[in-house]
Amino acid sequence: MNNSELRAKVIETVAFYTDLGNETFKTNMATPNIDFSLKGRVGGKYSPREHMVKVNMILLAENAEDYLESTIPHEVAHGFQRHIYGQYQHGRRIMPHGYEWKRIMLTLGKNPKRTHSYDVSNATQRTVAREFAYRCHCKTHMFTIIRHRRAQKSQAGYRCKRCGHSLSYVGNKMAVATVA
Ligand SMILES: [Zn+2]
Ligand SMILES: [Zn+2]
Repeated sequence: MNNSELRAKVIETVAFYTDLGNETFKTNMATPNIDFSLKGRVGGKYSPREHMVKVNMILLAENAEDYLESTIPHEVAHGFQRHIYGQYQHGRRIMPHGYEWKRIMLTLGKNPKRTHSYDVSNATQRTVAREFAYRCHCKTHMFTIIRHRRAQKSQAGYRCKRCGHSLSYVGNKMAVATVA
């Protein structure tokens, strides 16, 4: 399937589980909006504020069958969770993958697993590639290995276009993560 066929499949599948849920729970939840710009290792996301299912195109394309079978109903179930139970129940905040969500998944005939097991190496390639951190006076700049090698060789060094300060190397992504 190419990307536009995949998008059409997602739209169809979101509508299918919305109809199934509305029939089963005797609700009238609107079909969630769909966004295809999710990036990185997250498979899918439901945003209650926008009533929107967010789709990771790379993970969808690489795992189309499972994505449509389990990730889409997983996200639509979050929609029903909010629609049926709201944000709080008996004074406590409803857990995203708590009892209510699990019950909805099971009623839709789905395995209530909270994580996917997709290979995320392609989906995270861009972030993995930029793992060398440089600081100026205003922000951290992430460099690829190629740019990092160039910066290390260059006599003049690199300057930040915003603050004009020269960039100094602070470490790779792991080192930065522990600092932050
Ligand atoms: Zn979830
Ligand atoms: Zn700067």
